Amino acid sequence: MDQPWVPEGYWDVVPHTLTVITTYKCNAQCRDCCFECSPTLSAKLSFEEIASFIDQAWQVFPGLRLVVFSGGEPLLLGEDLFASVDHVQRLGLLSRCVTNGYWGKTHSSATRVARRLSASGLNEINLSTGVDHAEWVPVASVINAAKAVAENGIFCVITIEQDSDSSEVVSQVKADMELKLLIEAGLVKLQVNSWMPFHADSATRKIFSNREEMLLQGCDQVLENCVITPNKEVSGCCGLTFEHIPEMKLGSFSKHTLEVGYFSQVQDFLKIWIKVDGPYRILKILGASAGIGSLEHIVHPCQACALLHQNERLREAIKSEYRNHMGRVLRAFYSQSLIHCDSHREVTANAS
Ligand code: SF4
Ligand code: SF4
Repeated sequence: MDQPWVPEGYWDVVPHTLTVITTYKCNAQCRDCCFECSPTLSAKLSFEEIASFIDQAWQVFPGLRLVVFSGGEPLLLGEDLFASVDHVQRLGLLSRCVTNGYWGKTHSSATRVARRLSASGLNEINLSTGVDHAEWVPVASVINAAKAVAENGIFCVITIEQDSDSSEVVSQVKADMELKLLIEAGLVKLQVNSWMPFHADSATRKIFSNREEMLLQGCDQVLENCVITPNKEVSGCCGLTFEHIPEMKLGSFSKHTLEVGYFSQVQDFLKIWIKVDGPYRILKILGASAGIGSLEHIVHPCQACALLHQNERLREAIKSEYRNHMGRVLRAFYSQSLIHCDSHREVTANAS
């Protein structure tokens, strides 16, 4: 089908990331976990299923560069996770693992796991912590895990839930002198991310001073990240609310879903609009006509995305208004994608 809004070479560059949601089982049960993970859930992918997804995606998506393993808690997969990371390395792709660091209880347990991950070829680890996480995994375990992976040559990012100005978790992480040296050496990075409330009585968090600026960004996930869930469904993003947005589900895993389902997303104007303007800006444009008053409670773009897809009046507003925005959005998508393709070509040319 003729798609003049998609520049030539776009599909040579995207999707560049695969996300494998390895399991919904977790040692923790954080109150506002986006997938409601817990120790009692059992859905998980085997090594054979993960390897099959990666192999088929590698054949279908020439722009693939990174495979992310997340969950639930991916380290609960044990040998299957190490084998999957090793598989990614053998294909010449980069790998990242997102974990809560429960395995860093002692220096020796942290070192043992870090060595296995390093031997499997893992490039980056993202450790999640914060006030909710700390009810299940002590911050000391996360610090042990961060130090062990950094000492074993794996770049580490510690992501802390946004809570308050005087966050005890941030203070505890910053107070560790050995970790401070690793941060100064650029081997470990600290970042604070907004933590989305999923319950009416969830604790109120400090609002980022640049909240509006952060929320008004376009979505860099949709079309660029292909995801598989523990139930073997392929999804078009791994945003915090994608399990609540049926439109993000592309079908059961098969080569056909990757070859046809994935690429057909570019015919869904709402996805392109979300990519260009971000769901919060669309909410700001359509909210009043859909009778939505204040947007002050929105702290995360995926929260806005879920509202956009779930609220009937907003869905009606999208249907009646989208034509007024089509020209501008498709032109912006074309320009952004062209810049993306050009910079990719430049990087590839410089590397060869
Ligand atoms: S550690 Fe992560 S996956 Fe596990 S329950 Fe908490 S938020 Fe969910
Ligand atoms: S904003 Fe929407 S499309 Fe983007 S990652 Fe979040 S849920 Fe997915």
